[in-house]
Amino acid sequence: MRVLLVEDDDRLAAALTTALSRHGHEVVRAALAVDALRLAGGVDFVLLDLGLPDMDGLDVLRRLRRSSAVPLIVVTARVEERDVLRGLRSGADDYLVKPFRTAELMARMETVLRRGTRPMPVLDQVVTVGDVRIDLGARQVHVAGSPITLTRREFDVLALLARQPGVVRSREEILDEVWGDPLLSASRSLDVHVAGLRAKTGRPGLVETLRGTGYRLGSTA
Ligand code: CA
Repeated sequence: MRVLLVEDDDRLAAALTTALSRHGHEVVRAALAVDALRLAGGVDFVLLDLGLPDMDGLDVLRRLRRSSAVPLIVVTARVEERDVLRGLRSGADDYLVKPFRTAELMARMETVLRRGTRPMPVLDQVVTVGDVRIDLGARQVHVAGSPITLTRREFDVLALLARQPGVVRSREEILDEVWGDPLLSASRSLDVHVAGLRAKTGRPGLVETLRGTGYRLGSTA
Protein backbone atom coordinates (compact mmCIF):
# COMPACT_ATOMS: atom_id res chain seq x y z
CA MET A 1 0.00 0.00 0.00
CA ARG A 2 1.23 3.52 -0.77
CA VAL A 3 1.10 5.55 2.43
CA LEU A 4 1.45 9.32 2.45
CA LEU A 5 3.19 10.33 5.66
CA VAL A 6 2.63 14.00 6.40
CA GLU A 7 5.05 14.83 9.20
CA ASP A 8 7.46 17.72 9.59
CA ASP A 9 9.51 16.06 12.35
CA ASP A 10 12.38 14.29 10.53
CA ARG A 11 13.16 11.85 13.31
CA LEU A 12 9.57 10.75 13.78
CA ALA A 13 9.11 10.54 10.02
CA ALA A 14 12.19 8.32 9.71
CA ALA A 15 11.01 6.01 12.49
CA LEU A 16 7.52 5.72 11.02
CA THR A 17 8.90 5.16 7.53
CA THR A 18 10.99 2.27 8.84
CA ALA A 19 8.02 0.75 10.66
CA LEU A 20 5.67 1.14 7.69
CA SER A 21 8.24 -0.28 5.26
CA ARG A 22 8.71 -3.28 7.52
CA HIS A 23 4.99 -3.90 7.15
CA GLY A 24 5.35 -3.88 3.39
CA HIS A 25 4.14 -0.35 2.72
CA GLU A 26 5.65 2.13 0.34
CA VAL A 27 6.04 5.47 2.09
CA VAL A 28 5.69 8.86 0.41
CA ARG A 29 6.69 11.58 2.81
CA ALA A 30 5.59 15.19 2.90
CA ALA A 31 7.00 17.64 5.43
CA LEU A 32 4.78 20.50 4.28
CA ALA A 33 1.04 20.84 3.82
CA VAL A 34 1.42 22.05 0.24
CA ASP A 35 3.26 18.86 -0.66
CA ALA A 36 0.70 16.76 1.19
CA LEU A 37 -2.15 18.22 -0.85
CA ARG A 38 -0.19 17.70 -4.06
CA LEU A 39 0.67 14.07 -3.28
CA ALA A 40 -2.55 12.86 -1.65
CA GLY A 41 -4.15 11.98 -4.99
CA GLY A 42 -1.81 9.11 -5.67
CA VAL A 43 -1.82 7.18 -2.40
CA ASP A 44 -3.91 4.54 -0.64
CA PHE A 45 -3.66 5.87 2.90
CA VAL A 46 -2.74 9.15 4.60
CA LEU A 47 -1.17 9.71 8.02
CA LEU A 48 -1.56 13.39 8.82
CA ASP A 49 0.23 15.36 11.51
CA LEU A 50 -1.88 18.37 12.55
CA GLY A 51 1.05 20.58 13.55
CA LEU A 52 2.60 21.55 10.23
CA PRO A 53 4.79 24.59 9.58
CA ASP A 54 2.89 26.03 6.62
CA MET A 55 -0.79 25.31 7.28
CA ASP A 56 -3.03 24.02 10.04
CA GLY A 57 -3.50 20.28 9.64
CA LEU A 58 -7.26 20.60 10.00
CA ASP A 59 -7.31 22.92 6.99
CA VAL A 60 -5.28 20.38 5.06
CA LEU A 61 -7.80 17.75 6.04
CA ARG A 62 -10.79 19.83 4.95
CA ARG A 63 -9.23 20.69 1.61
CA LEU A 64 -8.28 17.11 1.00
CA ARG A 65 -11.78 15.86 1.78
CA ARG A 66 -13.29 18.12 -0.89
CA SER A 67 -11.89 15.83 -3.53
CA SER A 68 -10.69 12.65 -1.86
CA ALA A 69 -12.10 9.79 0.17
CA VAL A 70 -8.67 8.31 0.92
CA PRO A 71 -8.50 6.55 4.33
CA LEU A 72 -6.83 8.94 6.74
CA ILE A 73 -5.60 8.87 10.33
CA VAL A 74 -4.71 12.06 12.12
CA VAL A 75 -1.50 11.76 14.11
CA THR A 76 -0.92 14.57 16.52
CA ALA A 77 0.47 15.87 19.76
CA ARG A 78 -2.77 17.72 20.40
CA VAL A 79 -4.71 16.02 23.12
CA GLU A 80 -7.60 18.41 23.60
CA GLU A 81 -10.95 16.78 23.06
CA ARG A 82 -12.05 19.73 21.00
CA ASP A 83 -9.28 19.13 18.50
CA VAL A 84 -10.08 15.43 18.37
CA LEU A 85 -13.72 16.16 17.58
CA ARG A 86 -12.84 18.74 14.97
CA GLY A 87 -10.43 16.33 13.35
CA LEU A 88 -12.97 13.56 13.12
CA ARG A 89 -15.68 15.91 11.94
CA SER A 90 -13.37 17.32 9.29
CA GLY A 91 -13.03 13.89 7.78
CA ALA A 92 -10.40 11.90 9.65
CA ASP A 93 -11.18 8.18 9.94
CA ASP A 94 -9.31 7.84 13.21
CA TYR A 95 -7.08 9.72 15.57
CA LEU A 96 -3.80 8.84 17.26
CA VAL A 97 -2.11 10.94 19.94
CA LYS A 98 1.70 11.11 20.10
CA PRO A 99 3.59 9.31 21.42
CA PHE A 100 2.18 6.00 20.28
CA ARG A 101 3.56 2.55 19.59
CA THR A 102 3.91 1.60 15.92
CA ALA A 103 1.95 -1.60 16.64
CA GLU A 104 -0.94 0.62 17.71
CA LEU A 105 -0.69 2.60 14.47
CA MET A 106 -0.68 -0.56 12.35
CA ALA A 107 -3.72 -1.91 14.20
CA ARG A 108 -5.61 1.36 13.70
CA MET A 109 -4.75 1.45 10.02
CA GLU A 110 -6.05 -2.07 9.58
CA THR A 111 -9.29 -1.20 11.38
CA VAL A 112 -9.84 1.83 9.17
CA LEU A 113 -9.24 -0.24 6.04
CA ARG A 114 -11.55 -3.01 7.23
CA ARG A 115 -14.34 -0.52 7.79
CA GLY A 116 -14.20 0.20 4.07
CA THR A 117 -14.00 3.44 2.20
CA ARG A 118 -16.22 6.39 2.91
CA PRO A 119 -18.50 7.47 0.09
CA MET A 120 -16.60 9.49 -2.49
CA PRO A 121 -17.36 13.19 -2.33
CA VAL A 122 -19.63 13.99 -5.22
CA LEU A 123 -17.93 16.73 -7.14
CA ASP A 124 -20.27 17.33 -10.02
CA GLN A 125 -23.57 16.86 -8.28
CA VAL A 126 -26.41 19.17 -9.12
CA VAL A 127 -29.06 19.79 -6.49
CA THR A 128 -32.38 21.26 -7.53
CA VAL A 129 -34.80 22.96 -5.17
CA GLY A 130 -37.86 24.26 -6.97
CA ASP A 131 -36.49 26.64 -9.59
CA VAL A 132 -33.10 26.90 -7.88
CA ARG A 133 -30.32 24.85 -9.44
CA ILE A 134 -27.18 24.41 -7.35
CA ASP A 135 -24.22 23.00 -9.27
CA LEU A 136 -21.80 21.84 -6.58
CA GLY A 137 -19.04 20.98 -9.03
CA ALA A 138 -19.12 24.17 -11.07
CA ARG A 139 -19.99 26.25 -7.98
CA GLN A 140 -22.83 27.91 -9.83
CA VAL A 141 -26.34 28.75 -8.77
CA HIS A 142 -29.19 29.46 -11.17
CA VAL A 143 -32.55 30.83 -10.11
CA ALA A 144 -35.36 30.47 -12.65
CA GLY A 145 -32.72 29.82 -15.30
CA SER A 146 -30.60 32.89 -14.58
CA PRO A 147 -27.17 32.69 -12.94
CA ILE A 148 -26.70 34.55 -9.69
CA THR A 149 -23.44 35.67 -8.14
CA LEU A 150 -22.65 34.54 -4.63
CA THR A 151 -19.54 35.18 -2.59
CA ARG A 152 -17.28 32.20 -1.98
CA ARG A 153 -18.57 31.76 1.56
CA GLU A 154 -22.19 32.24 0.65
CA PHE A 155 -21.78 29.44 -1.85
CA ASP A 156 -19.90 27.28 0.65
CA VAL A 157 -22.71 27.63 3.19
CA LEU A 158 -25.33 26.76 0.57
CA ALA A 159 -23.25 23.87 -0.77
CA LEU A 160 -22.79 22.43 2.71
CA LEU A 161 -26.56 22.31 3.18
CA ALA A 162 -27.25 21.17 -0.38
CA ARG A 163 -24.85 18.25 -0.16
CA GLN A 164 -27.19 16.57 2.31
CA PRO A 165 -30.70 17.87 1.74
CA GLY A 166 -32.89 17.41 4.77
CA VAL A 167 -29.97 17.19 7.17
CA VAL A 168 -29.84 19.94 9.81
CA ARG A 169 -26.41 21.50 10.29
CA SER A 170 -25.71 23.30 13.54
CA ARG A 171 -24.32 26.82 13.53
CA GLU A 172 -21.12 25.51 15.06
CA GLU A 173 -20.78 22.88 12.37
CA ILE A 174 -21.24 25.41 9.58
CA LEU A 175 -18.80 27.85 11.17
CA ASP A 176 -16.29 25.06 11.57
CA GLU A 177 -16.67 23.79 8.00
CA VAL A 178 -16.85 27.09 6.16
CA TRP A 179 -14.91 29.48 8.40
CA GLY A 180 -12.66 26.85 9.94
CA ASP A 181 -13.62 28.03 13.40
CA PRO A 182 -16.61 26.92 15.44
CA LEU A 183 -16.22 29.83 17.85
CA LEU A 184 -19.09 32.21 18.31
CA SER A 185 -17.01 35.20 17.21
CA ALA A 186 -17.84 34.47 13.59
CA SER A 187 -21.46 33.79 14.31
CA ARG A 188 -22.69 37.19 13.11
CA SER A 189 -20.95 36.43 9.83
CA LEU A 190 -23.09 33.36 9.40
CA ASP A 191 -26.27 35.40 9.85
CA VAL A 192 -25.03 37.92 7.30
CA HIS A 193 -24.19 35.21 4.79
CA VAL A 194 -27.53 33.44 5.22
CA ALA A 195 -29.31 36.77 4.75
CA GLY A 196 -27.20 37.39 1.64
CA LEU A 197 -28.15 34.00 0.23
CA ARG A 198 -31.84 34.62 0.78
CA ALA A 199 -31.72 38.10 -0.73
CA LYS A 200 -29.60 37.22 -3.78
CA THR A 201 -31.63 34.16 -4.68
CA GLY A 202 -34.90 35.91 -3.90
CA ARG A 203 -35.92 32.62 -2.30
CA PRO A 204 -36.04 33.27 1.46
CA GLY A 205 -37.10 29.69 2.19
CA LEU A 206 -34.08 28.17 0.43
CA VAL A 207 -32.13 28.19 3.66
CA GLU A 208 -34.41 27.14 6.46
CA THR A 209 -33.67 28.24 10.01
CA LEU A 210 -34.48 25.79 12.78
CA ARG A 211 -34.48 27.91 15.86
CA GLY A 212 -31.93 26.75 18.40
CA THR A 213 -30.83 23.88 16.18
CA GLY A 214 -29.32 25.14 12.97
CA TYR A 215 -30.00 25.32 9.26
CA ARG A 216 -31.02 23.02 6.48
CA LEU A 217 -31.84 23.24 2.82
CA GLY A 218 -35.44 24.41 2.62
CA SER A 219 -37.83 24.95 -0.25
CA THR A 220 -38.73 27.73 -2.63
CA ALA A 221 -42.47 27.40 -2.11
CA1 CA B 1 4.50 18.53 13.64
